[in-house]
This record gives sequence, structure tokens and C-alpha cells, in this order.
Amino acid sequence: MADRIIRAVTCDGAIKILAMTARETVEEARRIHDLTPLTSAALGRTLIATALLGNDLKGEDHTITVRVDADGPIGSVVAVSDSRGYVRGYCKNPHADLPVRESDRKIDVSGGIGKNGTLSIIRDLGMKEPYIGQVQLVSGEIAEDITAYLATSEQIPSVCALGVLVDRDWSIKAAGGYIIQLLPGVFDDEIDRLEECMRKARAVTECLDEGMSLEQMLRTTLEGFEIEVLDESEGGYKCTCSRERTRGVLMSIGEEEIMKIAEEDGKAEVACSFCDNKYTFDKAELYELVEEIKEKKK
Ligand SMILES: [Zn+2]
Repeated sequence: MADRIIRAVTCDGAIKILAMTARETVEEARRIHDLTPLTSAALGRTLIATALLGNDLKGEDHTITVRVDADGPIGSVVAVSDSRGYVRGYCKNPHADLPVRESDRKIDVSGGIGKNGTLSIIRDLGMKEPYIGQVQLVSGEIAEDITAYLATSEQIPSVCALGVLVDRDWSIKAAGGYIIQLLPGVFDDEIDRLEECMRKARAVTECLDEGMSLEQMLRTTLEGFEIEVLDESEGGYKCTCSRERTRGVLMSIGEEEIMKIAEEDGKAEVACSFCDNKYTFDKAELYELVEEIKEKKK
């Protein structure tokens, strides 16, 4: 099943909004990686932000990668989206878990991610080199870090809200998020009104868990603003791996290493980090790879 992404603007065109429901996406990530509530929340929020930014890419073959590298027990978190909002991701330690935070009884995402580290965004826009930006983490709660990234690295004043609600049986009960961006020409009084809205805003998961649609959530959150939905599309969890691509990855480790595997193990099994699909290459195929590498060197 697919999730839903909408793009909207305020009627004066000064504020742009991207919003997504992501229960299916995060549930699929949980199923693949056997995530705990903590890692469902951390990877889930990263997947949602990445899908939203991906949906905003212009070119069909453009991709965006969000990486968080910090010192918490979850380790690195990676998510990649295509230009529609189909996303995939993983975290280094999917079984990491922490007790709920004492102060607000919420899942301790910043404790799991860590506070010392970086958030990087890599945009592959089909050029020779991808565009890479990086900021120091602000809180490790992901949404604030995305906001900081957009403000400092891309000079776009934004508000980002992301949420994953985990049920008692660890399944995903609700998930979603939005990114609100101020476009050039926005008036100061609109910024003030937006800030007021954000102070009063209810949590994304609270709205979605109540059965609100994305439109209802945005109209409730941005009370007083006239919102026009420009388009809607599907998003979800989708891996793009294939035997051919995995073959390429295997080739990149070099002929000596492949020879060693062929002789010692008789085969190579390569698991995709994003979907856990396993690709096996037998001895004959490994020798074929070695020959190909030799051929290329000539
Ligand atoms: Zn895969």
C-alpha cells in the first residue's frame, strides 16, 4: 500500500508546504530491519523528511540522500528518496533501544541518535558531481536538524515536523510529517502568524491518529491561512537494488579480494542494506567477475 504526499501553497504564494502520511512506509522499514520503537522513530522520521525533500526534486532521475552520523547507540542513519517520494533506508544498529524519556514520556530519539554529529544531504541532480551540504546536529531529534540544514545550507527559512507513533505491539500506528518553507517575498506579519501557529501546533501523529487527512491537518495547523493544494502523489518504501547493481558493488572490491572469496568460501552472498535481499554469486560467477576486471584494466 502506498502513502500520500501533497504539495500546497498559501493563496498568496508566499508559503510552500509539503506533507506526507507515512504509516505504510515506516511499517515496511520496521518489517525489513526488525526495528525497535526507538529505531522506528529515528529511521522513520529520517525517511519521512527524505521523501518530502525527494518529492520536491525537479528531475525525474534526481535522488536525495539524508545521512545522520552521530555518537548515539543507533549509529548512522541513511535514507534515499527518488523524485516522487519513494524512499529506502537503514540504520547501523536497528536493535538499539532506550527507555522513554523521563521529561516528556516520549521516545528518546535524540538520545538514540546522539547530540554530537552531523546531518548531511546529498542531492544527485544528474550532474558530474552530486551537491553535498552538511550541518552540525542541533538536537538529534531529526526535524530540528532538517530545519537547521535548510536554513543554513540552503538559506530557506523552514519549519519541519515529523512524527512516528509506535503501538504497544511495536507496529506503526501513525506516521507522517510536513515541511513548510517561506518563499522570497513573504511578509513579516505572515512570519509572525506562522510562528504563532507553530507554537500552538499539535503533534503530527496526534492529528493523523485521530483520522485527520493531510489537508485537515494542514488547515488545523495553519489556522488563518488560505491553503491551496497543488498536487498529490503516492510515496512509499521501495528499494532499487538488482542483481546487476550488486554485481557492480562486488566488482568494486577488486580482483584480489574476489579471488580470495572464491577460493576460501566458494561463493559470495551480498545482502542489500536497504531491503535485506540476498544475492548469491557462485564460484564460476566470481571467476567471471575477476576476468571482467582484468579485461577492463587492459
Ligand atoms: Zn534492496
